[in-house]
Amino acid sequence: MDFHQDPAIEEFRNMVRCVIAEELPAEMAERQKAHGGTNSVVADTLAWTGKMNARGWSVPHWPVEHGGTGWSAMQNYVFMAECSSAFAPEVCWGATHMCGPVIYTFGSEELKERFLPDFREGKYYICQGFSEPSNGSDLARLRTRAERKGDKYVVNGQKIWTSCAHESEWGFFLVRTNPDVKPQAGISFLMIKMDTPGVTVRQIPMINGDAELCEVFLDNVEVPAENLIGEEGMGWTYAKFLLDHERTTSSFIFQNKREFARAQRLALRETIDGTPIAHTAQFQQRMARIEAELTALEWSVLRELANEDFKYDRTAAASTLKVAGSQLQQTISELQMDILGSKATRFYPYPQKDREDAGPLWPDDLGGRTAQALIARASTIYGGTLQVQKGIIAKLAFGL
Ligand SMILES: Cc1cc2nc3c(=O)[nH]c(=O)nc-3n(C[C@H](O)[C@H](O)[C@H](O)COP(=O)(O)OP(=O)(O)OC[C@H]3O[C@@H](n4cnc5c(N)ncnc54)[C@H](O)[C@@H]3O)c2cc1C
Repeated sequence: MDFHQDPAIEEFRNMVRCVIAEELPAEMAERQKAHGGTNSVVADTLAWTGKMNARGWSVPHWPVEHGGTGWSAMQNYVFMAECSSAFAPEVCWGATHMCGPVIYTFGSEELKERFLPDFREGKYYICQGFSEPSNGSDLARLRTRAERKGDKYVVNGQKIWTSCAHESEWGFFLVRTNPDVKPQAGISFLMIKMDTPGVTVRQIPMINGDAELCEVFLDNVEVPAENLIGEEGMGWTYAKFLLDHERTTSSFIFQNKREFARAQRLALRETIDGTPIAHTAQFQQRMARIEAELTALEWSVLRELANEDFKYDRTAAASTLKVAGSQLQQTISELQMDILGSKATRFYPYPQKDREDAGPLWPDDLGGRTAQALIARASTIYGGTLQVQKGIIAKLAFGL
């Protein structure tokens, strides 16, 4: 298996690279770079999705009949890698990688027509209302209640850690429609418009100076029954499908490669006693170890894409990628901080917030490193915590 030397893939990569260079406005890439390169400005996310949609590329991985490109898994991988290394804004994962696939797989024709074109166009942002206070890892015990009353559901409860809820027009929510059956069987998947009376969103200040995580309170929120995706009581099945869909993206492979390259550049520029850090034995050892881990991670992702027969269960393989990728993200951001030393703290919080009195722009590579290192702490929490992933691996791969 040697994907890198496939001339057709390299030709495809060059084509994608040229298109991105043509389409991506420099100031958008700048903002993405300064923002840490992972969490985008919502307006940029939507604008970029719109630009890609004009080329038919906003949801390349979707089935062709729903607007996908028909590219192979490898082509999709290359496309995402190129977008990431060019600092293109992230897409709205909730729409393109989570809710969209659930709707085109399980939703009615009416729901497909209503939502899929908007998701492709990047018409608005949508958020994921799953976690609740006390029910994060233990999601099946969620308590937000949706009672059917005629042609609507009346929803009461609270969600938490809902990313970008304050900037979202819609949210996809897991709600309990039947409290009298086993926990997994009583859950449904409901679309809720965020400006519906009774929905209150409260932002949570974060250590990196941002406030994109939110609490969402739902008080007697009346939701039309037609907003139910698929069948009532099947929400748990759809949620598992959705989480499986994140399989390869949860490895953070693109960000990890890009940020390791940034660390290499920083290490060549920053010095200790006049010697570039990159030339010191201690850093060379550290970087070599990370590079080996990064290469192993990339090949594991590529094996997954190539659908190679794994010795282990595929869900366990996905959890392994998540564990390795999220820990590597933290290791690489810590490496960047160590290379920069006290210079890293100068850019806290995100540079755009204190730019007015900061004088000229700093070198490209320095922006937002502390903020990024702080948010990287969360990568072993969201999408399933490190400990829970390890539990899954122990059970499914080793039968423990
Ligand atoms: C940046 C960020 C963005 C997020 N975005 C969203 C979002 O958009 N939508 C959404 O719904 N949620 C979101 N989340 C929430 C996230 O999914 C939960 O935080 C996560 O699932 C953990 O749940 P919890 O916070 O309730 O922690 P808990 O489940 O209470 O876990 C607390 C600790 O106990 C450990 N633990 C729990 N159960 C087990 C077990 N069975 N075995 C071993 N250890 C265990 C955990 O590993 C953890 O260390 C986000 C979280 C973060 C940090």
